[in-house]
Amino acid sequence: MLEIAHLRKEYDGIPVFTDLSLRINKQEVVVVLGPSGCGKSTLLRCMNGLEPVQSGLILLDGVVLNTGKTDWRFIRQKIGMVFQSYELFPHMTVLDNILLGPLKVQKRKRKEAEEAARILLERVGLYEKRTAFPRQLSGGQKQRAAIIRALVMEPEIMLFDEITAALDPEMVREVLDVMLGLAKSGMTMVIVTHEMQFAKAVADRIVFMDSGEIVEDSPPDDFFAKPKTERGCRFLNIFQF
Ligand code: ADP
Ligand code: MG
Repeated sequence: MLEIAHLRKEYDGIPVFTDLSLRINKQEVVVVLGPSGCGKSTLLRCMNGLEPVQSGLILLDGVVLNTGKTDWRFIRQKIGMVFQSYELFPHMTVLDNILLGPLKVQKRKRKEAEEAARILLERVGLYEKRTAFPRQLSGGQKQRAAIIRALVMEPEIMLFDEITAALDPEMVREVLDVMLGLAKSGMTMVIVTHEMQFAKAVADRIVFMDSGEIVEDSPPDDFFAKPKTERGCRFLNIFQF
């Protein structure tokens, strides 16, 4: 469904990747692991056009996206992304934050969009908070709202970049559970996380990166039982997994 091929990405002439290829199949859940600075966030940001690339291809359903002619705003409705820091608008209620995309970008009817938002908010236990402002929510509630804001656009694939990393420990579970539910429902997902138990439970494939390269691409049981590479072993040892 989503594919990158031979991607080269530099910041100020310094390469993060020189030749990175990865293919995400429909309904697959791919967890990307790797040490800080190895390029996980850059990979996700390249996948939905937030970062320009120097060479290589980004394809969605076989169509090349990085042609210079792509309307990334349109594509990002299909490739939803949630970040570590919640990017809800502080002056808008939860519901208004969620309805912004469907009403303003997708020009959907308010009644239909509100109904879609209601179903999603109920699914993650946030319907009672729909009229609250972001400052009135916990970190976990804000991240659940941020997930709904992406989901209400009806994306084909969702990218998650360490979305529990800034949360207090007691709120991590509720956010991971939303991602687990989404995976069970058949959503195609790429997840960057440092929650190893969760990674093992949710992933169809573990992609382990180091220094801008994909070093391993294995089923989770294989990767966690015995990484194929020295670098993989070292990484898991750090997490004492
Ligand atoms: P990760 O998410 O795995 O921690 P990143 O993708 O954030 O890694 O970063 C990969 C490399 O690119 C790092 O060396 C980082 O310093 C560099 N980098 C990331 N973003 C920028 C940027 N906006 N400008 C310059 N360098 C960047
Ligand atoms: Mg990162």
